[in-house]
Amino acid sequence: MTAETRVADRAPPVWTCPFCPLLCDDRSAAAPGCARAEAGLAASAAGIGSAPSPAVPARLHGLPVPREQALRVAAEWLHTARQPLLAGWGADMAAARALYPLACRVGAISDVTAGEPLAQALRAQQDRGGYTATLAEVRRHADLIVCIGSWPAERAPRLFERLLAGRDVPPAIVVLGDGVDPPRSITVEGQTTDIEWLPPDQDLPATAALLHLALTRPARCPDERLCALAERLKAARYAVLVWEPGQLGVHAGLVIERLQGLIGRLNLTGRAAGFPLGGSGGAATAQAVHTWLSGLPLRTQVGPRGLEHDGLRLGCERLLADRAVDLLLWVGTYPEQRPPDGDRPRILLGPPALAASLGHESATVFLPVGTPGVDHAGHLLRGDSVVMLPLQALRPSALPSVAETVTALLAEVQRLDAMAATEVVA
Ligand code: SF4
Repeated sequence: MTAETRVADRAPPVWTCPFCPLLCDDRSAAAPGCARAEAGLAASAAGIGSAPSPAVPARLHGLPVPREQALRVAAEWLHTARQPLLAGWGADMAAARALYPLACRVGAISDVTAGEPLAQALRAQQDRGGYTATLAEVRRHADLIVCIGSWPAERAPRLFERLLAGRDVPPAIVVLGDGVDPPRSITVEGQTTDIEWLPPDQDLPATAALLHLALTRPARCPDERLCALAERLKAARYAVLVWEPGQLGVHAGLVIERLQGLIGRLNLTGRAAGFPLGGSGGAATAQAVHTWLSGLPLRTQVGPRGLEHDGLRLGCERLLADRAVDLLLWVGTYPEQRPPDGDRPRILLGPPALAASLGHESATVFLPVGTPGVDHAGHLLRGDSVVMLPLQALRPSALPSVAETVTALLAEVQRLDAMAATEVVA
């Protein structure tokens, strides 16, 4: 056997897919078996064997400049900003660990973009607590899975493959919600499982309230289908409610509180848990890292009174709409992540491909960075918030990571701070 044959015989390396909260780590990038992963790889131009991204220079006001100059200007903007906003956080754990000290140094507010579902889910947890299960627990124990308000496989295509694989007797699967379009059945490892769809003809907060009523006072619940579902939930050995905070509408927090109340009620006599699915693109990781480092979640401001968290007032979109910040530093390395529009000065960290869609760049510094899990290694928190998985450098490139870029920015800001202090003393 030649050396070439031995290399060819080797199984393709397993890869952790960073393109949705499941972080599947059981396939190679050459055959991910998932349309979303393939789309993510195509968008990152990271097909196996493809060349690294062409060198894209940093840009200042739309013109190419040396990276050092772009970093210097960005640091000057951060140094003089009255109220900067660090938004996006669309990268990995190391990036989040680098962004928090920068927020502390420049007195910034921190939030992911489109972070309302994340904030509402957190608020529900803060207010009422909750019961959640891990991916492995659902796979091992669930005999009834009820998806609330959406068909989650649209955003996490391999979810049911991962929940049903290896099961001799698959769980019953019910989808509860109007306007959802689940398939009639799914087939995993040759075994077909029917999907039941129950459209309740009312919005999700009302549905969740009625389902709770059906469970606690069935005689007062006017919906027989919900009463029947409540009976099945009670009879289940291990019922699991799956929801996506981003698909629950504007009252997501209220719906989640109701669902957790329902799960709590089921746990008085049996076993039940929730399986929320969200926080993709580094959002869940950023939330966790910010909390580890500061004791507070995102939507926190570093100010004269120390750290202040306000899940409503400090939302990224609200701050931008109210013109409450005068500088935006945004990080987004994954496909579909786009910086907010606006005419305030922007420091944007994204993959080289983002350069083509920055829009008006009259007050913009663009710093190209690598994508974790594609250009360089890293870590992301899986959607069930219990496992921090390593990401591999699928197509190692010379692009600096977000963590390296933010660390360089912080060093430049500290240098400017030191110069300003020297001038005051002199
Ligand atoms: S389900 Fe999600 S994590 Fe798994 S391969 Fe598809 S996109 Fe990647």
